[in-house]
Amino acid sequence: CADMAMYQAKACGRNNFQFFTSEMQHKVTQTLDLENRLRHALDRNEFFLTYQPQVDIASGRIIGLEALLRWQPEGQPLVLPGQFIAIAEETGLIVPIGEWVLRQACHQLHHWHQSGLLAEEVSMSVNLSVRQLENKSLLSTLDSILKETGLKPSQLELEITESAVMKDPEVAVSVLRTINQLGIQVSLDDFGTGYSSLSYLKILPLDVLKIDRSFVNDIGGDPSHEAILQAIVTLSKNLNLRVVAEGVETEAQLTFLRKLHCHSIQGYFISKPKSAEQIEALLRTARHGCLPGLEPPVTPL
Ligand code: C2E
Ligand code: MG
Ligand code: MG
Ligand code: MG
Repeated sequence: CADMAMYQAKACGRNNFQFFTSEMQHKVTQTLDLENRLRHALDRNEFFLTYQPQVDIASGRIIGLEALLRWQPEGQPLVLPGQFIAIAEETGLIVPIGEWVLRQACHQLHHWHQSGLLAEEVSMSVNLSVRQLENKSLLSTLDSILKETGLKPSQLELEITESAVMKDPEVAVSVLRTINQLGIQVSLDDFGTGYSSLSYLKILPLDVLKIDRSFVNDIGGDPSHEAILQAIVTLSKNLNLRVVAEGVETEAQLTFLRKLHCHSIQGYFISKPKSAEQIEALLRTARHGCLPGLEPPVTPL
C-alpha cells in the first residue's frame, strides 16, 4: 500500500512524492507517539472504566454490567478503545492493561455488592484479549484477583471474540475450559461477525452468547435478517446458553427481541456506558433491581 502510494506520487512528480512521504511519515510518527503515551498511561493513572448495564427482558432487572475501558491522557481528548486496543495488543501492553481492568472491575463490583446497590447475583463482564488468553500467568492472575476482591468466580464473566479464539483454537479452548471449571462464566462476544461461528459453538465451554449489534440494527428491515436473529436465539436456547442482544437502541428493537424470547439486552436504549459515579446515580433510581421504565409489561407477550 505504501509502495503504491509512492508509485502514484512519483508518477505525479517530485513535489507530490514529498507530499506523500511526509503524510506517511506523519502517520508513523503518530502511531509511535500513541504507543509511547500508552506505555506510560498505566503509571500515570490515565485509564478508567465505564460500565454498561445488561437487563433481563422478562423481569426488567439488571443482571450484569460490562466494563468498558477509557483512556484520558492529561490535557488531551478522551481516547476510545477502537483507537488504542489494537496498538495495546500489538505491543503486548494489553496484558498489564487488561490485568488492571480485571482488578478494577472486580473491586468495583464487590464494592457495589457490599453497599447493597447491586444484588449478589449481578455479575461483571470483562473483555479479554487473545494476548491475555495466551499469557501463561492468566489463571494465577484471575485466582489472585478473585481472592483479593472477595468475588465469587460465578460473579465474573469473561468476554472473548471468535477472532480471538481463531488465532489459536487449541490453546484458547484449553484455557477457557480451565477458566470455566473454576466457575468463571465465559461469553462469546460479537457473535455472528466471525467466520466459523457454528463450529466453535461445539467446542467452546460457553455460558453466554452475545449477538453482535449489526443483527439488532437490522430489525425492522430485511425479513431474512430477522429470521437469522430468530435462529440465533433458538440455537442459543437449545445449547443452554444465555443470549444477550448487543446494541439495542430503540423500543421497537426491544419489543421485537422480547417476542423472540431473547433473554437479555444491552444498549443505548437502556443506558450508554457510564462512569462509576454515574452508574451509582442510576442504580439509586432502580427499584427491586429494575430501572425506571423497564418494569415488566403488565400483559405478558
Ligand atoms: P464490545 O465488547 O463488543 O463492547 C460493546 C461496544 O458497543 C462498546 O464500545 C459500547 O460502548 C458499544 N455500544 C453499546 N451499546 C451500544 C448501542 O446501543 N449502540 C452503539 N452504536 N454502540 C453501543 P466501546 O466501549 O467503544 O468498546 C469497543 C470495543 O473495544 C469493545 O467491544 C471491546 O471489543 C473493546 N474493549 C473495550 N474495553 C476493553 C477492555 O477492557 N479490554 C479489551 N481487550 N477490549 C476492550
Ligand atoms: Mg464485550
Ligand atoms: Mg460486542
Ligand atoms: Mg466488539
